[in-house]
Amino acid sequence: MPSTELQRSLCVSVHDVAPHTWPQCERLLQAIREVADIPVTLLVVPAYHHHPVTDAARYDRLLEQRLSLGDELALHGYTHLDEGLAPGCLWGKFTRQVYTQGEGEFSALGVNEARRRLTWGLEWFEHRGWPVHGFVAPAWLLGDGAWQALDDFAFKYTTTLSRFYALPERRSLLSPSLVYSARNGWGRAASRQGNSLWCGMLQNATLVRLGLHPNDAHYPRTVAHFQKLIEKLLMTRQAMTKASFVQKWVASLDRHDRPQWKIAD
Ligand SMILES: [Zn+2]
Repeated sequence: MPSTELQRSLCVSVHDVAPHTWPQCERLLQAIREVADIPVTLLVVPAYHHHPVTDAARYDRLLEQRLSLGDELALHGYTHLDEGLAPGCLWGKFTRQVYTQGEGEFSALGVNEARRRLTWGLEWFEHRGWPVHGFVAPAWLLGDGAWQALDDFAFKYTTTLSRFYALPERRSLLSPSLVYSARNGWGRAASRQGNSLWCGMLQNATLVRLGLHPNDAHYPRTVAHFQKLIEKLLMTRQAMTKASFVQKWVASLDRHDRPQWKIAD
């Protein structure tokens, strides 16, 4: 049951924001703006795939502009690459190398390495004087070490593919993220259909999350689909950044002091 005071919410985020992906990210942001001028959460990767950055000053200015427009910048890993030890079992191999295509940076890190990467990421924000409230692990994969490391930082929220967590208490809310596949035509068509279905099923959910990836910008049918989805969702929901959502959501829980939340396993 959604809280009575908390309006049904929509959080739109753009993943994998980096100088290398910025042209596609900009196209996604433009496509969102064509539907409505809503605040968006940009999931920023400071050293995305170790790509060299040629015009850092220009990129910083662009992100600063987004901040001044009311968008949020959240930390989305440091390199976005799973650089941990080689997976030892078949299942580990499948999840880390095939399912996430080796992008689950925080899926298998020990607590010390996770802490180190979070620290680097936060220093990157701090160096620019930018606020950061949220951490979203690449591919939404948080291993035990990463969860443990998060306790040492002042993040207000994190998310997995299916849940939104308020930190540090780990109050959580079921909120599957709607995402598009970009791997092949069949996958893209299936994900469009799947997202339409989810959208109907989540009609009464407190929060609907829509996560867009740079590659989505290459496919006009994906862009048209998420534009329609946003338009539809905005008829009954208020769009906000994840940082705004967590603030409102936690306040509404505290106001009612109701045990609607649970501690993560
Ligand atoms: Zn990502």
